[in-house]
Amino acid sequence: MSSTTTLAPALGDLPAQLPTDLFIGGRWRPGSGGERFRVVDPADGSVAATFASATVEDCLDAVEVAAAAFPAWSAIPARQRSELLRAAFELLRSEREILARIIVRENGKAYADALGEADYATEFFRWFAEEAVRIPGDFRESPSGDKHILAVRRPMGVAVLVTPWNFPAAMATRKIAPALAAGCTVVLKPASETPLTAAWIVGALQRVGVPDGVVNLVTPVPAGPGISAALHHPAVRKLSFTGSTEVGRILLHEAADTVLSCSMELGGNAPFVVLPGADVDKAVAGAVVAKMRNGGSACTAANRFYVHSSLHDEFVRRLGAELAEIPAGPGVDPANGLGALVSVAERDKVAALVETARGEGAEVLLGGRVPQVVGAFYPATLLADVEHGSTVNRTEIFGPVAAVVRYDDVDDAVAMANDTILGLIAYVYGEQGSAMSTALRLDAGMVAVNRAVLSDPAAPFGGVKQSGLGREGGREGILEFCEEKYIGLDL
Ligand code: NAP
Repeated sequence: MSSTTTLAPALGDLPAQLPTDLFIGGRWRPGSGGERFRVVDPADGSVAATFASATVEDCLDAVEVAAAAFPAWSAIPARQRSELLRAAFELLRSEREILARIIVRENGKAYADALGEADYATEFFRWFAEEAVRIPGDFRESPSGDKHILAVRRPMGVAVLVTPWNFPAAMATRKIAPALAAGCTVVLKPASETPLTAAWIVGALQRVGVPDGVVNLVTPVPAGPGISAALHHPAVRKLSFTGSTEVGRILLHEAADTVLSCSMELGGNAPFVVLPGADVDKAVAGAVVAKMRNGGSACTAANRFYVHSSLHDEFVRRLGAELAEIPAGPGVDPANGLGALVSVAERDKVAALVETARGEGAEVLLGGRVPQVVGAFYPATLLADVEHGSTVNRTEIFGPVAAVVRYDDVDDAVAMANDTILGLIAYVYGEQGSAMSTALRLDAGMVAVNRAVLSDPAAPFGGVKQSGLGREGGREGILEFCEEKYIGLDL
């Protein structure tokens, strides 16, 4: 028997029931151990649902059925896989409000952010429906003249996909869509805070007719033993992980045992550099978006603001004024621009970081106190006089806290921006020429020049240094799930 939950009336009526079980081999079912875990609404601490916990055996079952489904799925014409992905895009697009409401309920983010995520997430199905039929290969002549070289790409096999809670829809679709497009079958493991969004997406794939066993959903709590067992199964040939650098390192060690191909989308500590001569209006508007999108819980969130002393005071004054205007409160109220953090534990981490910053000499110009309300809320906060190298400057804040460092010399700003083991994204605001030359000097997989949002299904998303391995989206995303095969021909 499978179980479902109905979302609270505060979120409006839903047209369908929401699965709260594992999905293995085309069937929703409880975990074989009978355990369930609670999914909490961070805005009020209520229990939104209880979700089935997967045992090690359930995770291995999911791998087995994915392995059994692989030969047929990888053999069907790419056009058919493409059309199923396109159908998933159409269906989820028609359900964007439902998806957004589920995201708000378990993640806490503002409804506008959740709608934006629903749209972004859904686009991966359209983009990879288009890429499924364009997997490149080529034909070469050997320089020695003794053979012809045919280089083709084949799907890797079963892929284990592990995703975080901060973009519970988009981080799942950014992996599922290219994996399926390439011809892989998958076992998805969403974060334990946000399994409902994943269940809705998996349910949508079932509803459009993706064959049984091609997509499977497991939620082992704790995650370690079940995922470790899955990664050691010989049928698994791919690990695609999005999450913290700490957990990424653990999984890379696990993957070494079976020499798995790994794509890793890990943590960020994004610098936001405001150059002398920058348009302050534009820089402040960009800072608000780059910091506050998703309540600051984004790997792409601007984490360290380096502002030239000629613009510093005006930038700080205007940024403070803009942040103070953002309406905050439960994400389900569409008027709010800042919702709750994902949990009280996450909120407490952010609060502790601000206290440490205060102790290390930062000036708190706005916010900086946990409000006396129910729920995991933290206010928009502005810190000035932050020292480069201080704790808040070295840590991925993952909350609505802007920490500003003043600088005098652009070379110093570039050196400080690059002074981190991470390198996911960087932002630069300035006159076109100086902004471009600075962008080229920043050690990051992605640089936003005079703009605050970079994510696009058509672009290669990913980091350098300890922010990751490989790219998602773009032409590159599908190739992460393909092996190159060389066939030598004697023509
Ligand atoms: P996390 O703690 O690393 O967890 C990510 C996922 O890994 C969750 O599904 C988690 O499951 C699972 N996990 C944890 N320990 C595991 C283990 N020992 N074995 C197998 N799986 C394990 O990250 P998070 O707190 O959810 O997300 C925030 C982090 O993600 C930030 O650092 C952020 O920068 C990063 N992120 C990066 C990108 C990118 O594209 N580069 C995008 C979004 C987020 P449980 O929930 O069950 O513990």
